[in-house]
Amino acid sequence: MTDTPKTRLATDLIHAGRIRSNLDENAEALFLTSGFAYENAEQAEAVFTNQVQHFQYSRFANPTVQMLEQRLAKIEGAEACRCTATGMAAVSSALLCGLKAGQRVVAARALFGSCHWIVSTLLPQYGIETVFVEGSSLDEWRAALSKPTALVLLETPSNPMLDIVDMREVAALTHKAGGIVVVDNVFATPLLQKPLEMGADVVVYSTTKHMDGQGRVLGGAVLGSKKWIEEVYQPFFRNTGPAMSPFNAWVTLKGLETLHLRLAAQGASAETIARYLEKAPGVKRALYPTLDSHPQKALAMSQMSGGGTMVTFELEGGKEAAFRFMNAMRIITISNNLGDTKSLATHPATTTHMRIGPEERARLGITDGVIRLSVGLEDTQDLIDDLARALSAAAANR
Ligand SMILES: *Cc1c(COP(=O)(O)O)cnc(C)c1O
Repeated sequence: MTDTPKTRLATDLIHAGRIRSNLDENAEALFLTSGFAYENAEQAEAVFTNQVQHFQYSRFANPTVQMLEQRLAKIEGAEACRCTATGMAAVSSALLCGLKAGQRVVAARALFGSCHWIVSTLLPQYGIETVFVEGSSLDEWRAALSKPTALVLLETPSNPMLDIVDMREVAALTHKAGGIVVVDNVFATPLLQKPLEMGADVVVYSTTKHMDGQGRVLGGAVLGSKKWIEEVYQPFFRNTGPAMSPFNAWVTLKGLETLHLRLAAQGASAETIARYLEKAPGVKRALYPTLDSHPQKALAMSQMSGGGTMVTFELEGGKEAAFRFMNAMRIITISNNLGDTKSLATHPATTTHMRIGPEERARLGITDGVIRLSVGLEDTQDLIDDLARALSAAAANR
């Protein structure tokens, strides 16, 4: 590697991290192998004592997975990356690897359902004190971070209400409190938002979402400094086993090749749809980070280079109207996944956010009329026609 040119995003999405075997294959090879062979006993010993670099076992590292890890690190601008079996494996391992009983964790209240469960239920079982704050309130962050804190977890924009957290301010407060900031960057993707540049220490992803982008395989990623990944994360990762399947890494590598094109098209479509919904009859409000009506538009635009692919809106008429709406859709699919080329709609109150209970939903603004839309790659006008059809069905019995 004497002459590596400086490259840009579209090139990195296709080439970064490529490992070519001695067979000179052009597409990334799928190394579907659990273990690796040693030439002799001496070599095995040298590998296990770290004198020789050699793949050992796919729970520790695998060439196909490593290509994805190095590609994601390049795109994120992170020193190191490890890929995991799911997004939740990424979140749970990134949290558990460094935390100890007696420490304190502060998290934004608006979190993906399973992330909320880890903070509210799992961590306290291990003697970790956890505190939730309203992510958009710097006063609440200041109060919560006035005590020593080991870790902060936040998601921005949040799921499903697209709340924005001021990452620069929260990172400064967290570092003063002695902790690290972990950002779940799924909704924005590394193309629209770079948390590490705004003071975050660790970024986590569900690669299941936009990175695969075609609804096929689960996966996750944890990115951070070389020191944190190697000294704090790797021992936990290697010994507890949340590793990503090489097959899933291979599919996700293919997904990344078109990520910038899909995001640009889906994001433009999402913005057009948000503007349509904002004015559509029967819609109380539409949420999208670049709309003038978004209460945190200025902050969103200081952190993100685009609004993303998710639109959330609230229908008049509560659950009955929401269900009539969803059942009348002919193109948009009812599904709790997101970031797919297929447009997907979900009713958070009865699915993804059912378990957090009515009180917490009310606090987050997730009413029974709220629908979360993941905008796909279909023709924008066809999607608007589908939404119009569903809106008339929602209004039918009122
Ligand atoms: C989907 C998602 C996760 C979990 O990812 P899985 O791949 O489903 O385990 C975590 N955080 C956010 C914001 C998500 O959207």
